[in-house]
Amino acid sequence: MNLIIMGAPGSGKGTQAALICKTHDIPHISTGDLLRKNIADGTDLGKQAKAYMDAGKLVPDELVIALLKNRIEQADCAKGFLLDGFPRTKAQADALGGITTIDVALNLVTDLNKLADRMASRRVCLKCGYTTSAQDAPDGICKACGDKLVIRDDDKREVVENRLKVYEQNTAPLVDYYNNKGLLKNIDGMQSIEQVNQAIEAALK
Ligand code: ADP
Ligand code: ZN
Repeated sequence: MNLIIMGAPGSGKGTQAALICKTHDIPHISTGDLLRKNIADGTDLGKQAKAYMDAGKLVPDELVIALLKNRIEQADCAKGFLLDGFPRTKAQADALGGITTIDVALNLVTDLNKLADRMASRRVCLKCGYTTSAQDAPDGICKACGDKLVIRDDDKREVVENRLKVYEQNTAPLVDYYNNKGLLKNIDGMQSIEQVNQAIEAALK
């Protein structure tokens, strides 16, 4: 099962992706996480990507496509995978079509006006990728690995606005792209985490 999960920044893609991957035992491939790992490791790619990410802009297609292609070619993806945060542009979607076939594109439908608040309270663990909110983790400690939780550089208010704009311009059109291929499943993303997960599992049956 080769899956894509789409949705605006802050729509809960990462949270839902982790649940789906646990249930179906497939790798969770988040280009955002892969890029942040490259930044933390100080790689050339990380150095090139950081300025774009901190400004809320897209990392250039050729860099992200190469990163993704490399990851999908690894052995653990043979039994299926879930892409989170890729594709984000039509060029990326076209490139993906040349690399592999997609079975279902899940689309988390959210109210864009409410997402800025969600992102302001998001807390992440840079060590293991665990994501939660300030409300759910008042001690600021990662439940998964015990490391410190931080605010992502691109979750700062002034950057969030730009990310939502970039989403509307570049990524929202991919909803039609996958709908036209008959692969799209819309999911109401404004429900609780559990309810969204149930709606996704129902759509995958
Ligand atoms: P979110 O889904 O909340 O926006 P991500 O972790 O998926 O967060 O992405 C964070 C940033 O990483 C993006 O704003 C962008 O700069 C970069 N990025 C991630 N995936 C891609 C991609 N497929 N193409 C271009 N840039 C990307
Ligand atoms: Zn952690």
